[in-house]
Amino acid sequence: MRRSVALLLAIALLAPVRVGAQLSPGASPASGEAGLEGESTLRRADLRVAKVAYRLALAGRPLCPSPWPLTGLLFHHLAEYDVADRSLMIARYGLDRGPGVLSVIAGSPASRAGLVAGDVLLSVNGGTFRSPVEIAAIRERTVWRASLEATERQLEDALRGGPAELRVLRQGRELSVRLDSVPACVGRVRLARSTQTNAFASGRYVIMTTAMLDYIRSDDELAVVLGHEMAHDILGHPATRSEEGVLAGLGIHPSNIWKREAEADRFGLRLMAAAGYNLDAAIPFWRRYLGKFDWFPQIFRSHPSLGAREKIAAEEIAAIRAGAPYRPTGGS
Ligand SMILES: [Zn+2]
Repeated sequence: MRRSVALLLAIALLAPVRVGAQLSPGASPASGEAGLEGESTLRRADLRVAKVAYRLALAGRPLCPSPWPLTGLLFHHLAEYDVADRSLMIARYGLDRGPGVLSVIAGSPASRAGLVAGDVLLSVNGGTFRSPVEIAAIRERTVWRASLEATERQLEDALRGGPAELRVLRQGRELSVRLDSVPACVGRVRLARSTQTNAFASGRYVIMTTAMLDYIRSDDELAVVLGHEMAHDILGHPATRSEEGVLAGLGIHPSNIWKREAEADRFGLRLMAAAGYNLDAAIPFWRRYLGKFDWFPQIFRSHPSLGAREKIAAEEIAAIRAGAPYRPTGGS
């Protein structure tokens, strides 16, 4: 646990933690023994973020260029845990057998299929997953992370063909589960343990830090941030930052970055409106956030200035309220 201990104590959590270099996923798994009472603060945080992302992805479907199979499953993987905790995670959850179910969103296809926290997926349509032990042995963070993403993608790919047959390990016994999905906007979101107040899109996932979640005051504000970052992935924008915290895109002309940021702001507001979140949360949030954190020199800044952002948001909110359809290349 080491580096995570201070934060862990701060939130009074003494369960094994998922780790991973600089930005670590911030959750402990469901406790199969203690049931709901064993839910940790961080697991609830994971679920909170996932629920808002789920709602945005589902409601935004008519706006999105290509459908993505939404299930309502949140995963955890052996490789995400500190080496010292892995034997416990294997003994308690069987995480050496396949990707584990960290949580299930109520009312989702996964919930309807009967999947529950603590389940482990053994195969999908007869195809097994790459060994979690093998993935956990990979030292290079970007490589093991990509391998985990590949296992999640294996399930997504199967679901694109319709309902999938899963073999599931539950409390030591195997069972078959038929899992369906609903078409939605791409909505892969992960909470990462970090003291940096930030969120970003990797091109495939939205990563929000625990510090950002702490900074956010409501689910409406959470929808502002997730909507913006999900928009980057939905619209196929290249990542502006790698998961290791490196600012990318410095070779790209700033006007192109600004154009994408404006587009993500506008599209994010459309997702929020579709999902029924309060659009009035957007401008005050950007004021508060950019006023506090947006101090980087312009050349390193990947997001529009506060003034530009307010103007974009105000125009798009007015357009939404006037019933005007989304215009992909319109706006300011
Ligand atoms: Zn952005």
